[in-house]
Amino acid sequence: MAMQHWRLLKRLRRDFQLSIITLMGLFGILGISPYAVYRLAEGNYLVAAADTIIVLSTLFAVLYAWRTGDTIKPGIYLAGIFSVGATLIVINLGVNGLFWIYPLILFNFFMVSPGRAWVITALVLTALVAHALLVPGTVFDSHYQMVSFLVTSMMASALTFIFAYRTRSQRDQLQTLASHDPLTGARNRRAMNEELKIAVSTHRRHGNSYGVLVMDLDHFKQVNDNYGHQAGDQVLVEFVELIKESSRQEDRLFRFGGEEFLLLLPNTTNPGLLAAANQLQQQIATNLQGPGGPVTVSIGGAILRSGEQWGSWLHRADQCLYQAKSAGRNRSIIDETPQKLSEQPVSNS
Ligand code: GH3
Ligand code: MG
Ligand code: MG
Repeated sequence: MAMQHWRLLKRLRRDFQLSIITLMGLFGILGISPYAVYRLAEGNYLVAAADTIIVLSTLFAVLYAWRTGDTIKPGIYLAGIFSVGATLIVINLGVNGLFWIYPLILFNFFMVSPGRAWVITALVLTALVAHALLVPGTVFDSHYQMVSFLVTSMMASALTFIFAYRTRSQRDQLQTLASHDPLTGARNRRAMNEELKIAVSTHRRHGNSYGVLVMDLDHFKQVNDNYGHQAGDQVLVEFVELIKESSRQEDRLFRFGGEEFLLLLPNTTNPGLLAAANQLQQQIATNLQGPGGPVTVSIGGAILRSGEQWGSWLHRADQCLYQAKSAGRNRSIIDETPQKLSEQPVSNS
């Protein structure tokens, strides 16, 4: 049970959007349920119904986000339902309801992307003003009040937009920094561990096949020793560019050591992996120019076996790389040894 709680907390900490949806959901449910009861007792059934719909939808959206891990759809849904609810309430209650528009603006910018929040908020303001103009005396007590409301709510929206936009772009930058190698722009070791784990669990659940290629530049120390570290760095940058050019869009390149890289290839079987390895190794041998001449790469590869942990998968690819180095470098070796019967998972279907 304690383990369960720990896992829930971990998910909340890792998924910012999920934690916001949960927090806003709790606020919504706790903050609005008493109003639903109060309006019902008062006999204002329309507002009571709107409040109840908002509470139930919120509950539903929060549960959906937790179950599916998708926070975008529930976010749009919640922003939409809260905006419609708030608009109806203001039209019904007049000025007393207007106070809700300010937290609604903040809410929308927390829930959905800044552009979407801007559109939803503009629709709410337009609907309120249109209703006030068409049915005078319903929403605002005077034109002066309406203009004041419009100016202040638009100012609140603009400031929140800027804030939300900045936060979003900083978060994106942080995510890139945390998962990429600054020198070459390839993904880093941390991202590699995550992606390999995802590959293993996707394979286990859906049977997708995955291959890895472990690549290590040949005699790279000589480049550094003879021409300096900066020249070595430049070769690494060009190496990554060439590999990215020659691999498929879905392949993922990671730099997991100094001059050691890993390419993760989804939907790849043994012959495909060997062909890809040979092609990449050829591409490097012919196009990667160091300051002292061509630089080559040795490659080891392995296809993920059923029931295998990622450590063992990498180890098999590494063994092949080691063989490629021993056999004279500038070559590719793929693990072709069949999986032993004792290593295969027991199927109970
Ligand atoms: P082998 O063919 O056996 O792989 O020989 P090697 O010289 O490439 O092997 P080794 O692993 O001994 O040397 C790797 C060298 O890579 C050591 C280090 O100087 C260099 N290196 C590691 N990281 C960087 C880096 O970020 N920039 C530069 N310029 N060099 C690096
Ligand atoms: Mg090395
Ligand atoms: Mg090397």
